[in-house]
Amino acid sequence: MAYRLLLQVILLFAAAILSSCAVNPVTGRNELSLVSEAQERAIGEKQYGSSQQSQGGEFSVDPVLSEYVNEVGQRIAAVSDAPLDYEFVVLNNSVPNAWALPGGKIAVNRGLLTELNSEAELAAVLGHEVVHAAARHGAQAMTRGTLLQGALAVGAIASQDNDFADFIVGASQLGAQLISQRYGREAELQSDEYGIRYMIAAGYDPRAAISLQETFVRLSAGQNQGWLGGLFSSHPPSEERVDNNRALVNELLPELAGRDMEIGALRYEQAMAFVHENAEAYALFDESERAIADNDLDIALLNLDAAIGMVPDEARFTGLKADIYLYQENYTEAVTAYDAAISKDGNYFDYYLGRGVTHARLGNRRQARTDLEQSSQLLPTAIAMNELGKLTLLDGNRNQAKEYFSQAAQGRGQVGMEAAASFIKLDLADNPENYISVSSLVDDNRRIYIRVFNNSDLDLEEVTVEVAFLIEGAISTSRNRLESLASGDYRDINSGKRVPVGQDWSNDQMSARALSARPSG
Ligand SMILES: [Zn+2]
Repeated sequence: MAYRLLLQVILLFAAAILSSCAVNPVTGRNELSLVSEAQERAIGEKQYGSSQQSQGGEFSVDPVLSEYVNEVGQRIAAVSDAPLDYEFVVLNNSVPNAWALPGGKIAVNRGLLTELNSEAELAAVLGHEVVHAAARHGAQAMTRGTLLQGALAVGAIASQDNDFADFIVGASQLGAQLISQRYGREAELQSDEYGIRYMIAAGYDPRAAISLQETFVRLSAGQNQGWLGGLFSSHPPSEERVDNNRALVNELLPELAGRDMEIGALRYEQAMAFVHENAEAYALFDESERAIADNDLDIALLNLDAAIGMVPDEARFTGLKADIYLYQENYTEAVTAYDAAISKDGNYFDYYLGRGVTHARLGNRRQARTDLEQSSQLLPTAIAMNELGKLTLLDGNRNQAKEYFSQAAQGRGQVGMEAAASFIKLDLADNPENYISVSSLVDDNRRIYIRVFNNSDLDLEEVTVEVAFLIEGAISTSRNRLESLASGDYRDINSGKRVPVGQDWSNDQMSARALSARPSG
């Protein structure tokens, strides 16, 4: 009997493992995966938009460049081993970086494109990312549960380059983890190898993958801050990778003799014409961000005006100017600048977020709400949720306000803490028993005390509890009030009642509940 049971258990486990085994489309090997391909596609679809937003949004001022990058990407995707709905976009971000979400949703930053010398090098970057998607490296990371490391990386990146990573809340946190994770050594080597094979199949000269790696090693030796926070944090360049790539290319080259292998240096230069011509404007923009970090707002504004003079259509320049006006509490100018940024590019969360906060400060509650909701649809942030919570409370909807505050509380830093306090303040009034507990104890003289605990993270005042006692078959009640009760502390109150001689006392003979309390201050 026991043997049969054991056998059944073994069969059950085997079935569970078999059902979660999948063939890797790139390597052909069987591997454990707890994330199905359909789930991967769904995750990629859902996270693509907000992941782009959190990394600067689309580089919409030069749509021709995005089209070009997408064309090169599709040429690689067409020869990949996994038929996914591949998409490629250029992001308006000076940090050299590229990433792939599950399901083939890929992005490359403007700041990486400026370091490349040819279409073949671009094909090497995109080929590497296509393999991450095709070989299901994101699903593997989710299966291994290593995404937590990614979450830590988000924090590390946030402190250097991206002010918003700390503030992403809700379902979009998954995308932030996926695009900043390290896949691990084996996955990187696999992406390098098959990326090169895909380049060749698509007709590109694979030697570009080596010149690209050499550029990376050179740049990493320079210890450039942007590079440390960008591609290199998820893709540490290593001699091992360079050596492997060189060996593979040397092995494959003889077979390619006589075949046309494209470099596409001129075509790449033409596609990058706008970016190269306006490099100074974007350098001024980057300097403005550094100046803001150093609180040199006048310098930042001067740089931005110069940048706007060079590229008037770039919404980010005007949007950053608006952010400065908001910070300076110059609300009229801020609204005008946000309006201008939105008229140039109506598809970036930060302009709506900033304008929404500005309208909230001006007391324009309806306009504030519309803008904050719009910004949350593009990218849900703790700032927007916290502001929406405050507006909703002013409109008298406590439960909805609590919902917003609890979402905002997922964010780290000052805003998250402020939202958490706002939530507890409301919830303490609604559900004081969730924060205050009451028990009883008896001293040597049989006096009954009630012990009131503050289990919350806040210091409380005006704590009122109601207690009912059952003594010798009779019920009596009392109401007790404490002027203050610190977080994590307790207070014993003499109930004025005694346990009759010869009887035992148990907590069952008392029922208590917290009636009300307020946060101190
Ligand atoms: Zn990689």
